[in-house]
Amino acid sequence: MFISVEGVSKTYELKDKSNSVALEKVDLSIEEGKFICLLGPSGCGKTTLLNMIAGFDKPSTGVIKINGGDVNQPSIDRIAIFQNFGLLPWRTVIKNVELGLESKGFDEKKRREIAEEYLELVGLSNYKKHHPNQLSGGMQQRIAIARALAVDPEILFMDEPFGALDAMTKMTMQDEIERIWQEKKKTIIFVTHDIEEAVFLADKIVVMTAGPGKVKKIIDVPLVRKRDRTSPDFLAIRDKVFTEL
Ligand code: ADP
Ligand code: MG
Repeated sequence: MFISVEGVSKTYELKDKSNSVALEKVDLSIEEGKFICLLGPSGCGKTTLLNMIAGFDKPSTGVIKINGGDVNQPSIDRIAIFQNFGLLPWRTVIKNVELGLESKGFDEKKRREIAEEYLELVGLSNYKKHHPNQLSGGMQQRIAIARALAVDPEILFMDEPFGALDAMTKMTMQDEIERIWQEKKKTIIFVTHDIEEAVFLADKIVVMTAGPGKVKKIIDVPLVRKRDRTSPDFLAIRDKVFTEL
């Protein structure tokens, strides 16, 4: 299996020395190239699980493996995108996209070439000299996506990336990320608390519940893409997920 999460629990020690169980006995297998959504209410451990798979944090018990190897630190092959975009305001759009390429050691000409390719992919070639604060939230999120993909990561982690966007922009971005995923064939692990978003995007929905955080059910979404948010099949799966939550 490409990614395997085996018996993973996470307990945080609080300031008063008491323990808080964020995640309990999670098992999960993820195939390469799939779009996985972690879905559940606030506090059910979605971010905790994502951070551990990405190597930003360690399980208290259990193991996480990628390609058979233990995950114990972050890697440039595994890139995360957060809700607040994480762009550097003092850098131009193209310089933001070049950021990860600098740590990969590409020279200036190559960096520029790759950054231009990915700005094209997200439809923002005309904005390369702008600064992030001159652009809308949806455009800023596209830049964050271009920057993440430019380093050609094996896995893209997205933690509620569209949570701060208005409803219309959010739908456009869902269309965009699906198109890009189909074109680039990355494994995407996408955290959301929005059922419709999960049914629109995911091959597999990992339904999580809180107190303590657990995987309650894994639901396959066999709908053909691009999905119609109003079709009876779509609504049937949405209802099925809803009853699990
Ligand atoms: P979600 O992303 O689903 O909202 P989180 O993974 O952020 O959930 O949090 C899961 C649980 O773990 C929550 O109860 C939260 O308060 C707790 N938690 C998360 N991070 C920490 C931390 N660094 N220290 C203590 N408790 C934490
Ligand atoms: Mg979270």
